[in-house]
Amino acid sequence: MRSISILGATGSVGEQTIDLIRRNAADWKVVALTANSNVAGLAAAAREFGAQVAVVADERRLGDLREALAGSGIEAAAGRAALCEAAARPVDMTVAAIVGCAGLGPVMAAIEQGGTIALANKEALVSAGEVMTAAVARHGATLLPTDSEHNAIFQCLQGGRIGDVRSITLTASGGPLRLVEDLSSVTPEQAVAHPNWDMGAKISVDSATMFNKGLELIEAHHLFPVGLDRIRIVVHPQSVIHSMVEYRDGSTLAQLGPSDMRVPIASCLAWPARMDTPMAPLDLPAIGELSFFRPDEARFPATRLAREAAQAGGAAPAVLNAANEVAVAAFLDRKIAFSRIAVLVESVLDQGELPAAPRTLEEVLRVDEDARRRATRILEPA
Ligand code: NDP
Repeated sequence: MRSISILGATGSVGEQTIDLIRRNAADWKVVALTANSNVAGLAAAAREFGAQVAVVADERRLGDLREALAGSGIEAAAGRAALCEAAARPVDMTVAAIVGCAGLGPVMAAIEQGGTIALANKEALVSAGEVMTAAVARHGATLLPTDSEHNAIFQCLQGGRIGDVRSITLTASGGPLRLVEDLSSVTPEQAVAHPNWDMGAKISVDSATMFNKGLELIEAHHLFPVGLDRIRIVVHPQSVIHSMVEYRDGSTLAQLGPSDMRVPIASCLAWPARMDTPMAPLDLPAIGELSFFRPDEARFPATRLAREAAQAGGAAPAVLNAANEVAVAAFLDRKIAFSRIAVLVESVLDQGELPAAPRTLEEVLRVDEDARRRATRILEPA
């Protein structure tokens, strides 16, 4: 039996993790489950698996959580410090599936206990970059990429040597707006209607703007040290190939599979072994054709902005991420047009000198907060 904590248990990745745990319940002991404010979903999962502790980030929901867990013997807690305390409890596996930089503190707490972390929460790695990878090395933790593209690359690297890699290709579906001409009038409903994947609202908008691929480029840069100029992006609308690794002898390895996050999640949960999932076998004749295109950075500048931020290094990726989080929230609240998301991110990046490169978690969080303030000031001038 292995112990597991799921940070962001009520979200899309969290629920798909729970689905896999439920199918193999005898193999797992659930320690901590967390959410932001979804008390009903969190309490139901905590009761189902007899979790040790359930935490909501929103402190105002603590009373409701206590009530929902009454009589169960499960600890209830709330707030950011409680999230980190729960994430720091020793477990064999932590699934990091909080959305946004809000997940960074808990991920770092999990890293500090030296366990294995299945990382879906890409914004945490994008913001903290070297601070996180250094902590992983210092504490002997293991980071397993759960993002489908990075999980594909990780799998293609098994048995290979990073020094033999000529290039890495991240595939991108292109999102729901790839062929939409007028991007200025796109609604949140259109932007979240992803053609291939069923995901949370924030990552769905990121996929529509291509910021998701931009964040993934920075994520790949930290996970697979081959050099930024060797990481490419190709649009592949069918989302069958999840990414590729080209070796110096001309061999390119690709990982293929259905567009279902349970595949990369299962690969992390069972690593280095394999486990059963309810996936139907890949039916290539039914898929018929796989096609590939170059990204259109004139219409979708996000990947250019992310590459520039990664090249600049230091605080730039954290600033890019924070500005994007503010812009996406404003778009989902119908306060700004879709086409303004990238404009806002670029304005924040171009606004004066960037802060110094953060060296600690606290410094990363300060850069994040400062960039959020700048983005908000541009959106809502006093
Ligand atoms: P969701 O929005 O579906 O879920 C987010 C989870 O995080 C929920 O449990 C939510 O709680 C919790 N949460 C939200 N805000 C906070 C906060 N401020 N503090 C603590 N917890 C919070 O997101 P996804 O599951 O789609 O994505 C999670 C992460 O995984 C993201 O980083 C995303 O980029 C990445 N990812 C997602 C994929 C997908 O298919 N969905 C694919 C690859 C990567 P509550 O329910 O209470 O709001």
